[in-house]
Amino acid sequence: MIGYEIGMSGQSLVISGEVLHHFSSYRQLRWWHREAGGQLFARFEGNQVLVTHATGPRQTDRRARRFYHPDRMAEQREVDVFHQAGHHFIGTWHTHPEDRPTPSAIDIDSISEAFRLSKHALNGFVLAIVGRSQLPAGLYVGISDGAVLHQLKSLGRSPSHHSALVVLSEDLVS
Ligand SMILES: [Zn+2]
Repeated sequence: MIGYEIGMSGQSLVISGEVLHHFSSYRQLRWWHREAGGQLFARFEGNQVLVTHATGPRQTDRRARRFYHPDRMAEQREVDVFHQAGHHFIGTWHTHPEDRPTPSAIDIDSISEAFRLSKHALNGFVLAIVGRSQLPAGLYVGISDGAVLHQLKSLGRSPSHHSALVVLSEDLVS
């Protein structure tokens, strides 16, 4: 797992090993690999937002080397299914064919728009972008408040420093 500090909120975002493995398996390491993506679902535990599941890509998504457009109906079905199981939609992920990925203008707009248009109790939506470098170097993680996408700082990969992942207060996610 990898932990990220969520700004000054005192919360941390923790991405499970399973999700990291899923991300890693879709890295665009060859020129013919197409962008992949999906949704992120989390459980809230104290000050931790634990990202336990990453969905996608789906057969019905539209995918190209520098383009990814998810099947919106499938996304809604996933949100319903995970909600029933007590998991919250927390954001989205997709790949980029660059070593250390940075969000495009479209990425920033779409996660901000998703945040503004959705009915939810969160103060931010997560955007994860999977590049070609080994994770976590090749992983961009940011949180949009509906206007600005803030990049999160990695707290490192070691599960043995688990206590360091729990930082302070709690207002970003309720
Ligand atoms: Zn992108």
